[in-house]
Amino acid sequence: MGTSAIVIGAGLGGLSTARVLSDHVDQVLVLERDRLPQEAVARPSVPQGRHAHVLLASGQRLLDSWFPGLADELAAGGAVRVPADPGFLSSSMSQPLLECTIRGLLSRQRPNVIISDETAVDGLLLENGRVVGVDVDGARHRADLVVACSGRHTRFLDQLAHLGFPAPRVSEVHIDVACGTCVVPRRPDDFTGALVVTVDDPVLGHRVGMMVPVEGDQWIITLASLHGDGPPDDPAAYEDFARSLPVPLIADALAQAEAVTPVMTYRMATSQRRHVEQLKRTPPGFVVLGDAICSFNPLHAQGMSSAALQARALGQAIARYGPSSPRLPRAFYMRAAKVIGLPWRIAARADAGTARPGP
Ligand SMILES: Cc1cc2nc3c(=O)[nH]c(=O)nc-3n(C[C@H](O)[C@H](O)[C@H](O)COP(=O)(O)OP(=O)(O)OC[C@H]3O[C@@H](n4cnc5c(N)ncnc54)[C@H](O)[C@@H]3O)c2cc1C
Repeated sequence: MGTSAIVIGAGLGGLSTARVLSDHVDQVLVLERDRLPQEAVARPSVPQGRHAHVLLASGQRLLDSWFPGLADELAAGGAVRVPADPGFLSSSMSQPLLECTIRGLLSRQRPNVIISDETAVDGLLLENGRVVGVDVDGARHRADLVVACSGRHTRFLDQLAHLGFPAPRVSEVHIDVACGTCVVPRRPDDFTGALVVTVDDPVLGHRVGMMVPVEGDQWIITLASLHGDGPPDDPAAYEDFARSLPVPLIADALAQAEAVTPVMTYRMATSQRRHVEQLKRTPPGFVVLGDAICSFNPLHAQGMSSAALQARALGQAIARYGPSSPRLPRAFYMRAAKVIGLPWRIAARADAGTARPGP
């Protein structure tokens, strides 16, 4: 029969995980509730895809090593090559283009991975204290290992808690991030060679702006505030918000070009970490990964790289113990905690410094 794994969710975390698992088990099945589009467009369950995304070098290196030809495929899809910066990706694109390109490479390069879209997982199957698969609309899919890459709002740990397993302690940092994003055309002579422009104004309640060059000769502009009112969705007021930043670049770009989208908003009240590494008891056959463990403040651009690093850590734990070992969940969670711990603490400390004093 061979070994098998199920990955719940086809976001960047799920795709990275499926790639890693394909080296360790015979069959990997990725189950995604959204319809997965052929083209690079934001999906209903990944609304953050509309907003500017930057991939840090650690994530880029892993994705390049897992998916040969990634940089060329991204370039063919219109990603913008930018001068290499040690901290950032050397090509810049929208999050949907990155996700869509990786999904295509995964399907073509790893024949033992099957991605099934429009397939929502309803719950985990438990037998004798171990997770043995998932339930989809009453149908039972069995596997040696189930990995939930189902994002920040994952419900699978709650299901386990209802079945008597301990729930992880949760750390939260109040960030009150409010983002407003629009897309504008990009002319060849716009800030030649720039990757992102970020400006942060602590005086005005930590306002931030960034412009990311993306496919289709466009800029994604994301303005944001921490603990502030957030950028308004009215275009004129949005430009005023950009004008309040200490550097006029973004406001000038908005004044000179007509936006091709309305202002799209997104709010996140807290960054959140589930301390799965502290769980005293967790069922064999199941782990969570990615935003499901740690959902960072998006302004630190850590989520995709952290998910890739966690996927690598899962591969290391499986190489040591095997996919169905009762020791695997704890071995993985301890490794994941090492990947997450430092960036989480750096971000949490920086974010705590932005908090407004209480009344
Ligand atoms: C505004 C914003 C900006 C960001 N900017 C950056 C950035 O610049 N750089 C960066 O690295 N990160 C950034 N991030 C974070 C980044 O988007 C995520 O960390 C990254 O996408 C990894 O997420 P994930 O795969 O764990 O979860 P998600 O992307 O949330 O994917 C979860 C998937 O699981 C599926 N799913 C959920 N439940 C089920 C179910 N029951 N059955 C089947 N499928 C299910 C969902 O449909 C979804 O496709 C940003 C986030 C936000 C909110």
